[in-house]
Amino acid sequence: MSMIPFNKPYMTGKELWNIAQAHAKGHLAGDGSFTKLCNQWIEQRTGSNKALLTHSCTAGLEMAALLADVGPGDEVIMPSYTFVSTANAFVLRGAVPVFVDIRPDTLNLDEKRIEAAITPRTKAIVPVHYAGVGCEMDAIMAIAAKHKLLVIEDAAQALMSSYKGRPLGSIGDMAAVSFHETKNIISGEGGALLVNNERFIERAEVIREKGTNRTLFFRGQVDKYTWVDVGSSYLPGEIIAAFLWAQMEDADAITKRRLAMWHTYHQWFDEAERAGKLRRPVVPAHCTHNAHMYYILLPDLARRTAVIEQLRVADVHTVFHYIPLHSAPAGRKFARAHGEMMVTDDTADRLLRLPMYAGLEERQVEAIRIVLSVL
Ligand SMILES: *Cc1c(COP(=O)(O)O)cnc(C)c1O
Repeated sequence: MSMIPFNKPYMTGKELWNIAQAHAKGHLAGDGSFTKLCNQWIEQRTGSNKALLTHSCTAGLEMAALLADVGPGDEVIMPSYTFVSTANAFVLRGAVPVFVDIRPDTLNLDEKRIEAAITPRTKAIVPVHYAGVGCEMDAIMAIAAKHKLLVIEDAAQALMSSYKGRPLGSIGDMAAVSFHETKNIISGEGGALLVNNERFIERAEVIREKGTNRTLFFRGQVDKYTWVDVGSSYLPGEIIAAFLWAQMEDADAITKRRLAMWHTYHQWFDEAERAGKLRRPVVPAHCTHNAHMYYILLPDLARRTAVIEQLRVADVHTVFHYIPLHSAPAGRKFARAHGEMMVTDDTADRLLRLPMYAGLEERQVEAIRIVLSVL
């Protein structure tokens, strides 16, 4: 049996056909028919007011930071246990990420610690839905309303998950999702900005089109297009959107396959969890998830290192996850932590991610069962 990778991009088989169609149509720049199909799909699936395809989730977060109008010295509350882009998007505007510890169960931003971190400079809260499992959005939205803050969901991993029946990505003022090849639905690099608060829609279109009102012009709402605001090029070309559309058409089947693997793992580890050997992921009853990730929490760093090595020898590739941003060199320079980061530091040492992709074959699943014997 050859090596089982941690992730393998899953193709539906229709991607090249769609790309050939985009090629034949001769429309290769952004916002052609495939981009429109993708935007509509996201809007239908999430109920978001406006979905705008971008070339990455990072780009979506950067657009959100521009729309939030944060500037030098402004503060944005977020977890430290996240990908660098969550913080970088705001650091690029001169703002200061303020890290708050995560909950020990879902590993999401601990909503009970947010209020103490708010200062007169706070402008926004950025909840990250780790592993596609929702943050406590009711509490977070209530804190934001009370203090007049924006909420920008980093829903990079959370497309097709829900919180209390509401799709993730549709709850905050804005949200960003990712179609990077390590996510569930992919286009290599790719993402989208979801604009839920209507007051940001028109400006989002302008910022995405290099600061011009080109989108209004194409809709016939203005008779010439010109430079009206700051902006950049955030839209992907049609080749990317054509690829992505094939994935969206198969999104339910892809999710089903991932969920099957997720539940297989979850059953396998039931006994080990009861024996105190590890902790399994916690999904609150009011959340549904997209099986973006299956992780286990081992007792300590030494045990995790040993398990990774034992699995590597058995040709099963597993990986840990984030180095907390508050302890990274750029995190120390550009951001600050509010309060203790105990859960964050502890999780960073103990979390192990297992192979998870839609293309996992049954014989591979059998081979991965080796994890049970090394635990
Ligand atoms: C993947 C990811 C991103 C970045 O997504 P890109 O599309 O690669 O820019 C941002 N935040 C989180 C939480 C992610 O998992």
